[in-house]
Amino acid sequence: MQGACLLLLPGLWLQLSLGLVPVEEEDPAFWNRQAAQALDVAKKLQPIQTAAKNVILFLGDGMGVSTVTAARILKGQMDGKPGPETPLAMDQFPYVALSKTYNVDRDVPDSAGTSTAYLCGVKTNMRTIGVSAAARFDQCSTTRGNEVTSVLNRAKKAGKSVGVVTTTRVQDASPAGAYAHTVNRDWFSDADLPADAQTYGCQDIATQLIYNMDIDVILGGGRKYMFPEGTPDPEYPDDASENGVRKDKRNLVQEWQAKHQGAQYVWNRTALLQASTNFSVTHLMGLFQPGEMAYDIFRDHTTDPSLEEMTEAALRVLSRNPRGFFLFVEGGRIDHGHHANIAYRALTETIMFDNAIAKASQLTSEADTLTLVTADHSHVFTFGGYPLRGTSIFGLADGKASDRKSYTSLLYGNGPGYRLNMGSRADVNEKQSVDPEYQQQAAVPLGSETHAGEDVAVFARGPWAHLMHGVQEQTFVAHVMAFAACVEPYTTDCHPQRPSGPSDTAHQLHPASEMGESTSQAAGGFDGPVACPLSQVLNRRLFSSALYRPTAAAPKKFWRTVHMQQGRNWVK
Ligand SMILES: [Zn+2]
Repeated sequence: MQGACLLLLPGLWLQLSLGLVPVEEEDPAFWNRQAAQALDVAKKLQPIQTAAKNVILFLGDGMGVSTVTAARILKGQMDGKPGPETPLAMDQFPYVALSKTYNVDRDVPDSAGTSTAYLCGVKTNMRTIGVSAAARFDQCSTTRGNEVTSVLNRAKKAGKSVGVVTTTRVQDASPAGAYAHTVNRDWFSDADLPADAQTYGCQDIATQLIYNMDIDVILGGGRKYMFPEGTPDPEYPDDASENGVRKDKRNLVQEWQAKHQGAQYVWNRTALLQASTNFSVTHLMGLFQPGEMAYDIFRDHTTDPSLEEMTEAALRVLSRNPRGFFLFVEGGRIDHGHHANIAYRALTETIMFDNAIAKASQLTSEADTLTLVTADHSHVFTFGGYPLRGTSIFGLADGKASDRKSYTSLLYGNGPGYRLNMGSRADVNEKQSVDPEYQQQAAVPLGSETHAGEDVAVFARGPWAHLMHGVQEQTFVAHVMAFAACVEPYTTDCHPQRPSGPSDTAHQLHPASEMGESTSQAAGGFDGPVACPLSQVLNRRLFSSALYRPTAAAPKKFWRTVHMQQGRNWVK
């Protein structure tokens, strides 16, 4: 596909034996001019030190830096260019930090512990969500008293509208960090709760989605956890495996609709697009698949919305609140593509995620909206082998390996791509490697490829985005969002909100005539930017719930032992 595009532009490229490089790049003036322009932009950067009316957190599940780089090249190639020179939407954010992703009990984390870190500001144990590390995996009785609170919850308390958008199930680990407290990320519905969890009063994640707080927009997959066991799915009525699964016979969608006048539930793309432009809709829930949504390359465009469309729909509903909003958007299936060792899936999902970021950047203003883009963790996904410029990102590395066979520039450290052919590694040609179903080779056999432990990037744009600097704990993400938006625990350190102007978010999303109220929160109170006492603010207590009581006495043991769980391949 990209090769064909390149061949349309023969005059602009110097063709090597296999690759293509832009001729202009041979001229030093090209690089000097480009760097001077970048320098000019950098010199003009002005920190925005007024309150963020809105906050958007984009979470690419499993989107390590190697994934960002490879997706950038793919996106550039799909645009008819060699690839690496073409910026993603997230590349254009002015500030970047590194985030240390480890869980309290693991050097390499899962998506549950990490969502607690970047949404609640507290690190915890693997497989647990919205509880501190004092809680124990799968032990319901350790939940109570150890709950920690998310930025989404705090934003709601501050009067903002809040939303959760994902391509996975809305009850999955990443979005659940916004609203749930659970010692087991797999307790999606009551059917997943063991007997002792029911005895101790632990609730399934789907029930918590409806009752823990008032979430204005909920979009993603996960229909089956909301309906009574045996309820036929509206899209797959003849497939019993897609039926509702709740053993308590509750219809959580109906219960949610009864709670809010103006609540609308949709399960397909057409209804979503209609509901998002209907001003009588105050609460919007869209569940587009019984389980996870399809990879975008397999999506039915008539029934299922893209992540970009869901993001736009969410912004349209949330931006009606003059006090602003908090929105969490997850590109959740980047992770799944990597677990399967199918880079094509992971990278195309990353591009769809980037398209959603581009859309949100168009629809919001940098002046009043803090947007962060990050990942929960990386994957053992590598990009190497000196491939020629302009060759497919899914193509071969230059030259042969020591076994005299070709190899791809994309590879995995472990996973199902490990295969031996007559006792040795299979040879590969480009026709095979560019197939969308091709599994890149892995060094170690595993049924599901693992996460990786290196730092991930945090890209930042908008008010207080400049705080995203240096190497930080992942918890810093939640604290910057809370501080920028002036929500708990930073309400006493508040900075003035910028008066709304014609370029601000609400005006971009809605014509002025449709805006019933002023979008300014700072009427009469704006005195211009004021520096915050950051040294005080950032040394504050970490987030914790009112229920959380730290141990009075100093702990006697400095270490506790965590145990390996051999033979289990359950990390997601
Ligand atoms: Zn995963």
